[in-house]
Parts: sequence; structure tokens; C-alpha cells
Amino acid sequence: MRELNKIIVANWKMNPQSKKEAEIIFRGISAAVKNLKNIDIVVCPPFPFLFIKEKIKNKSIKLGSQDIFYEKEGSFTGEVSAPMLKNMGVEYVIVGHSERRAISDTNTIVNKKILTAIKSRIAPIFCIGESKRDTNGFYLSFIKEQLIEGLKDITKAQVKNIVIAYEPIWAIGSHAVREATPSEFTEIRIYIKKIISDMYDIKTANEIRIIYGGSVNPFNAEPFVKEGGSFGLLVGRDSLSPKKFSAIINLAK
Ligand code: PEP
Repeated sequence: MRELNKIIVANWKMNPQSKKEAEIIFRGISAAVKNLKNIDIVVCPPFPFLFIKEKIKNKSIKLGSQDIFYEKEGSFTGEVSAPMLKNMGVEYVIVGHSERRAISDTNTIVNKKILTAIKSRIAPIFCIGESKRDTNGFYLSFIKEQLIEGLKDITKAQVKNIVIAYEPIWAIGSHAVREATPSEFTEIRIYIKKIISDMYDIKTANEIRIIYGGSVNPFNAEPFVKEGGSFGLLVGRDSLSPKKFSAIINLAK
């Protein structure tokens, strides 16, 4: 089996508000994560701040974007293409984040974006997750549908380049209802693996990185990795604080 790096993703969302602040945060993270081995630190700033990776050189940090458009070029006002991102040094892209799904992205759009990213050799961080849990298990069908529709037409060779981020909407952001537990993540991780195994095969399922995201902080990072078996973490709010983000990396690695 190929060696897989752990992955910790910083999703800055629509923050910070200035170039100067972006540089300060990036420099802070960069100073804390020099010469890391077997772990990819992926920083996903908003589009206008993608330039900072060129300014602040650090091989331990990979650049990620928060979205991608599925057309290559042309009359698509406001959109950003895969070639543009590639040209900026982007290696990963978050696709299907619940905040984008809430605005516009359907499973079909998410699938088109994943296909585009893969064809451009940008690794998708494919986000899935339900808005609420119910005792009849409808949330499980919801997750299954997101996976099946999001991975439509993606080959066995291609799917291995995708990172699947399970982010229950009820545990994300400042409006979170509550934190998820590592055992809740374990159950869903096994469930995702089973679906991937049915769609492809068990060998392929074992080679896909499944990570947790949703209110990750320095207190719960280690349990999600150790007890929950997460291959990494997707961090929102706490990735804007170099101190908290580097603590999360140190605990998770
Ligand atoms: C996210 O929205 O991807 C996320 C993980 O946010 P937070 O860590 O702030 O819950």
C-alpha cells in the first residue's frame, strides 16, 4: 500500500480582512511548522491571499484554495479556474464545503468541481456531512447520496487522490449545536469506508484519507486522531490563530 501523509487543513474562510493580517497569520504558522515529515499542512486562504505562499517559502506548507470552478476559461464572472489556481501553486482545493452548498453547490456541481480538480492535478478535499442527526438514520442516506453523486464518473485511480472530510454541519462554526465526539466520527469513518469499498474495492477504500472537521481545537484534536482514527483534521476558526493551529498540529501528529 502506498505511504499516505497525514493532512491538517486550515480553512480561513472569508478571513482575514487585510493582506497584512494574512501575512502575519501565514508567517506565524510557517514559523511553527518547519521540516515536518509525513504530514501535509494545507493552508487555504481566500483567493486574494493565495500569493502569500510565494512570499513565504516553507516546504512543509501546501497551498489550498477554498473553491474552484469547473469551466476552464471564458465568460464566467466571479469564478476562478483550475489553470489559474494551478498557476498560483495550489495543490489542494476544498470542494463541497457546507457553506458553499448552502449558497449554490449541489451534488452535481460538487462532482463537476471534483472532476475538474483531479484532471488539473489538484487534490480535492471533498466535504460531506449532514445538518442534523435523526433516530431513523436518514442522515446516513444523506451522506451516502453525497458520496455516490459527488464521486460519479471518478475512476479507481483518481479517487485515491481525494481526501474526504466528514464535517457534520451541526458541529461546525460559531453556530455549532454541540461538538461531535471521536466515537461518532469513528462510526461515520467506517460507514464512509464501506460505501467507498462497495463503489470501488476495499484496497481503494483503505487508501483514501478520511479526516474530521468541525470545531477542532487544541483540546479535541488529539482524541479525534487517536481515538477517532482520523487521518487528519480540517480546522476553521482555530486555523486563524497560529498559536492554536500549531498546537493542533503538534497534538495531531
Ligand atoms: C469548517 O467550517 O470547515 C470548520 C471546520 O470550521 P470550524 O473549525 O470553525 O468549526
